[in-house]
Amino acid sequence: DAMSPTEGDQLLTRHRAVMPKWLALYYENPIELASASGRRVTDRDGRTYLDFFAGILTNAIGYDVAEISDAIRSQLATGVLHTSTLYLIRSQVELAEKIAELSGIPDAKVFFTNSGTEANETALMLATQFRRSDQVLALRNSYHGRSFASQAITGNRGWSASSLSPVKVSWVHGGYRFRSPFKDYSDADYIKACVADLREVIETTTAGDVACMIAEPIQGVGGFATPPDGLFTAFKEVLDEYGILFISDEVQTGWGRIGSHFWGIQAHGVVPDAMTFAKGLGNGLAIGGVVARGDLMDCITANSISTFGGNPVSTTGALATLNFLLDNDLQQNAEKMGERLIDGLRTIAEDRPAVGDVRGKGLMVGVELVGPAGEPDPKKAAGVLEGARERGLLVGKGGLYGNVIRLAPPMTVTEEEVEEALGILGDVL
Ligand code: PMP
Repeated sequence: DAMSPTEGDQLLTRHRAVMPKWLALYYENPIELASASGRRVTDRDGRTYLDFFAGILTNAIGYDVAEISDAIRSQLATGVLHTSTLYLIRSQVELAEKIAELSGIPDAKVFFTNSGTEANETALMLATQFRRSDQVLALRNSYHGRSFASQAITGNRGWSASSLSPVKVSWVHGGYRFRSPFKDYSDADYIKACVADLREVIETTTAGDVACMIAEPIQGVGGFATPPDGLFTAFKEVLDEYGILFISDEVQTGWGRIGSHFWGIQAHGVVPDAMTFAKGLGNGLAIGGVVARGDLMDCITANSISTFGGNPVSTTGALATLNFLLDNDLQQNAEKMGERLIDGLRTIAEDRPAVGDVRGKGLMVGVELVGPAGEPDPKKAAGVLEGARERGLLVGKGGLYGNVIRLAPPMTVTEEEVEEALGILGDVL
């Protein structure tokens, strides 16, 4: 049933009274969703939207997918929503086996958490313990979560609330090319410049014996900033020289979303020591985790479990999601639809100087909006967000300056839906 606008206003007032003031909501009149199906969501006022942000990439497949809902329902029917991770859980073991195999990491082991933040926290704990060092390399413009350690390796002040840190972080170039000092370099020269920066940072600003580098293959919150293929190949050679571990944060780039590869880092031909994941795996359920080399995973000796991490409902839903992704080759669809989306946006950009950059891979597509002198234009991005919503399209926003539109529909998106979104975006832009 449609709700009257006043009821919606009331919920917003109640939200503001009881939730932290830094808990940001999209839109001047925030949306409350009432139902969803396929790639479309319907709000409490009865308005339906095509969803091109998919819950910040949580909805890998889309909404109300029978195979996934049925699997979760049959788990609920057993009565075991969760008891304890101190008992054997069949779906958890099966999911871990699948992820270990898909990871390409030799002798891989998996630990489940409830979120990407916890996954990165765990990976940092493993790497710092393994190397007996608290020194970590991270990329400028990164986002890794909101725990004490994961916010410390987040290179974006807008998302990193505390200046205190349990790890010693050194920042390197590489992720965000569009506004880097090496912006206009060729791919090869860009990689060379970033590698030189990495070496300089290791040699002159760290105290030596760095534990690890952590990086997103494509920076998510950072505005789908996409480095050239080969950057992490070159980084990995340097890291190997120093014995520094490499952790790939695949929270946004995993599960085939980038189209060409199942994991973001595979586009660089790199096998990391660990990967962290979350978001899309649950298709809306809370699940995350770390997959790591066995010796790295087993380097801590203390007992450690997560009360809910790997619980029967989340792992059953995740297993159904993963099977659906693989059985329907959604990676290939992501590649095809992503190309269409990027091509369409580049055409739109031709006679729109406000579009400074169209970038991305597969179904992670960023549109950076700029002012007359090429400066970041966050107001324009906010306007596009509102304008798209008015026309029935949900998109995301991001970037260091909040001036990047982020497009990441469910990986089941169709050609017609891509055309529909392009029509609306062309209109709004
Ligand atoms: N890493 C990346 C790359 C992310 O995009 C996010 C979430 N936006 C996180 C980690 C944190 O995940 P969560 O919000 O599930 O804790």
